[in-house]
Amino acid sequence: MSLDLVNLRFLDRPVTKKEGLQILERDEYRCQYCGLDGRASFENALAMSVDFVVPRARKGKKDPHNLVACCRSCNMIKGKHVYRSFDEAKAHVLKRRTDLRRAWERTPAQPGAKPAKAPEARTPAAEPEKARAAAAAGSVVSSSPLSLRKG
Ligand SMILES: [Zn+2]
Repeated sequence: MSLDLVNLRFLDRPVTKKEGLQILERDEYRCQYCGLDGRASFENALAMSVDFVVPRARKGKKDPHNLVACCRSCNMIKGKHVYRSFDEAKAHVLKRRTDLRRAWERTPAQPGAKPAKAPEARTPAAEPEKARAAAAAGSVVSSSPLSLRKG
C-alpha cells in the first residue's frame, strides 16, 4: 500500500516488473482490449503494460483478477473511469478507438493522405535570421540529414 497524498488514502502499489511479466505471460502478451500482439514486433513490445481494471486511484486491488495485459493506447483511452465489469470497460475502449479512427481517417496524418499544402523547403533563405546567426558564428548549418553523412 502507498499513500495517495492528494486524496489522503492508501492505494495498492503499482505492479512490480515480476508481477507485470506474470500477467503478460498469462494473457500471452496480447492487449485484452484491442488484441494488439505484444510479441509481433519490438514497437508492440514497448507498447505493452498491465492495466488495473478497477484503477488503483479508485481503490482497485493488485489482484490477478483485477489485472490484464493492455497496450498503452488502450490504457490511456480507458483512463481512470470505473466500469461495472471488464466487459463494459472493453466495450467503452473499443467504441472510443472506433470513434478516434474515424476522426483520424479525416486528417492528413494517415498514410496516403495528400498534404493540405506543399511543405516549404527548409532553406537558409526561408530562415534568414538563423542563416544570419550561422554566418555570424562562422559556421555552416544545413537542415539536410544527408549532409550529416559526409566525413
Ligand atoms: Zn490495446
